[in-house]
Amino acid sequence: MIVSRSVRALRKRERALAELVDKVPSHIWRLTADGEPIFFNKRMVDYLGLDIADIRQPGMSGLDAMIEMAIHPDDAARFRTTLRHCFASGESFSTRYRLRRHDGIYRWMSSRADSIHDRHGRISQWYGLCHDIDDQIRAEEALQRSERHLQRLIDALPVHICSWTPAGEVSYVSRRYMRELGLSKANFEQLAKAALDLVHPEDRLEVQGRAAHCIRAGEPFMMRYRRHGPDGLFRWTEGRFEPLRDQNGAIVEWYGLSIDVEDQVRVQDALRLAQQNLARASQAASLAELSASIAHEISQPLAAVISSSDVSQRWLSEQPPNIERAQKAVERISESAHSAVEVVARIRALFKRSETTRDYTALDSVVREARDLMAEEALRRRVRMDVELERDLPPIAFDRVQVQQVLINLIRNGLEAMDSAGDDRVLRIRARRATNAVQIEISDRGPGVEFPDRIFEPFFTTKGQGMGMGLAISRSIVESHGGRLSVEQADPHGATFIFTLPVDVGQAVHA
Ligand code: ADP
Repeated sequence: MIVSRSVRALRKRERALAELVDKVPSHIWRLTADGEPIFFNKRMVDYLGLDIADIRQPGMSGLDAMIEMAIHPDDAARFRTTLRHCFASGESFSTRYRLRRHDGIYRWMSSRADSIHDRHGRISQWYGLCHDIDDQIRAEEALQRSERHLQRLIDALPVHICSWTPAGEVSYVSRRYMRELGLSKANFEQLAKAALDLVHPEDRLEVQGRAAHCIRAGEPFMMRYRRHGPDGLFRWTEGRFEPLRDQNGAIVEWYGLSIDVEDQVRVQDALRLAQQNLARASQAASLAELSASIAHEISQPLAAVISSSDVSQRWLSEQPPNIERAQKAVERISESAHSAVEVVARIRALFKRSETTRDYTALDSVVREARDLMAEEALRRRVRMDVELERDLPPIAFDRVQVQQVLINLIRNGLEAMDSAGDDRVLRIRARRATNAVQIEISDRGPGVEFPDRIFEPFFTTKGQGMGMGLAISRSIVESHGGRLSVEQADPHGATFIFTLPVDVGQAVHA
């Protein structure tokens, strides 16, 4: 009774184990010590559509028959060699291969087998486990394909790409960049030094300083500088890098890119030169036109004044003098002189009419606009522009276009004045409140003004290509707004041009 109960329990356990072996989502198989298959679990039988009995073929071992029937022809030789090696050495078996399903489709499997030994230490059997990894392999292949595609794309693009960790460890350098920097896997981490060595010596300090600042502050970097190209010439390059942050804002990686902008810079230079020439030419043309029309308008009454005074002189020098006729001629002189005055008054009124275009505009936006318009030129001349605008400047009425013209004139003069300066090239633009006015100061660090008494005269210039009209026009614009334009010596050196624009007290209160 007791025996039959324990036999029943044993059988129950055996059934449970057999069920487990069949239900486990893997293929389980067993081989003799010589590698003859003796058991496949149900999942394996279902998968293959074969059982042990089906692989018994005359004149062939069960294992060879199974390899022939179920292992992909491209994997069969490797599979057989690995197995033979394991049977001979007793080492565990682990490999990947494609296994044929009952419907003829091959799927990737990962298989492992271990030997078990009898009491004497001899191998008695092999147990194997095999998982279907087809989906995983296909996903890996797709990933590798897309990685290869991306790599080809990066290699084909005419840009340099790199990345590094917040700790400064270089994590990626595109092939093109490696070639240009003369880097290899061995000195990969020398990226920053190699990149900086190629920068033009005049730009190097600034690139280094700005890059270090951006990395410290976690800010994006963007700068144009000259870089030594593979042809031995320096070419304009735009370098950019910026951080990638995680959800908490911590920097995870820095990504950098640099691109050749030589052609773009050349085109911009040519365009800027053409614009400057055009602006100069149109200024000269409009000045000449204006002078001609003023001369024409005034010369008529002046000619009349001269002829009437000749006539009056003739009547007075007669014997006796003809006072009546001379008086008439003097009246005509007076009339002609008045009409000359009128012409001048009309011309002045013409200019004064520009007052109607004055609006209450925020001065800071005009200053920023002028700064932006000149930003390219400042970059080209390696000048940093610092703008300091006092908060809540009172609103003032001015002609936006004219004041912008003044700002651009003064900024351009400041930039040109620093052409032969050293590295300390800073142009400071400040706007602040003064008594009943807003005061704008433009300071450079050039050599200073050589002829302060003459620079506001029309056509006074010390530049080979200068026209000498910029300051004269600027002063007349500022004065027509009721302000003043003057120059002072800057501290420690250079020039500070200061102009004021008066605040309309009544309007300021309502604004
Ligand atoms: P242009 O720039 O065509 O010479 P401007 O009227 O603008 O005409 O300037 C007149 C002269 O004033 C310049 O030729 C130069 O000698 C002097 N000048 C103007 N701005 C500066 C400056 N920031 N620093 C030194 N000199 C200046």
